[in-house]
Amino acid sequence: MELICPLCNGMLNYEIYCLRCGSRLKDQGAIVDYLDEYSPYLSNDITQLVDGVEYEKCCHLFKCDRCDFEKRVEINRVRM
Ligand SMILES: [Zn+2]
Ligand SMILES: [Zn+2]
Repeated sequence: MELICPLCNGMLNYEIYCLRCGSRLKDQGAIVDYLDEYSPYLSNDITQLVDGVEYEKCCHLFKCDRCDFEKRVEINRVRM
């Protein structure tokens, strides 16, 4: 059995809306992947969060196209 993130694997359509303008936030992908590509540009804040994430969770970054609001969401991985 393997723990996988349903969002990374397209099994879950997670809807979350912007707290500022109400637009639907777009999934920017798992933050761990994000860090691999962009780590030099991210704040310590996000790095620490990733270190603290439990194994069973996949942390995703959601972003609003309209106002650039960002929200991090922990998705529970499921056993397949
Ligand atoms: Zn994921
Ligand atoms: Zn917004």
